[in-house]
Amino acid sequence: MNVVCYPSEILSRPTPRIEKFDPGLRDLARRMFEIMYEANGVGLAGPQAGLSLRICVMNCDPDHKPEAELVMINPEILELSGNEVGEEGCLSFPGIFIEVSRAQHVKVRFQDLDGQVHTLEAEGLPARAVQHEVDHLNGSLLIHKMSMVQRLAHRRALKMLELRRPAEAEAPKAAEVEEPKPKRRRSS
Ligand SMILES: [Zn+2]
Repeated sequence: MNVVCYPSEILSRPTPRIEKFDPGLRDLARRMFEIMYEANGVGLAGPQAGLSLRICVMNCDPDHKPEAELVMINPEILELSGNEVGEEGCLSFPGIFIEVSRAQHVKVRFQDLDGQVHTLEAEGLPARAVQHEVDHLNGSLLIHKMSMVQRLAHRRALKMLELRRPAEAEAPKAAEVEEPKPKRRRSS
């Protein structure tokens, strides 16, 4: 299964809360991790897997160690502090990386697969990933974070995505991307 890419309509739709915590939810989270790992991402939100549901999965460990897996259901950001500009990509915008200003520290409340409530505090990459995924669940995308200059810089890559049919939803070839190959970039 491929990651749903921009400009698919489902990505812009705010997701409804999950109220039923049944075993199917566990299978769904597993499938989302598989899609995320296959795409080499650090996070994936429900709509990127074609599901308008308030769930996201994350693994910010560079080796994707299973113990670093995090499933967040109905996440809610409680606190944001500090500020950090960092490069960000999104699996729904293959080949596009932009500098995005985010809070450095985040406190988030969410439910796990059993419906238990947890609070997590994160900094750095995990904090960025949490903010990115919660944005997804609210229908807010990388393109909404782009300045006019960034939109212009990536206009070709965006156009390519807009022209693609859903069946062609795979990463664009290197030649279609205007910027040089990154060293190590992570998308979510
Ligand atoms: Zn994303």
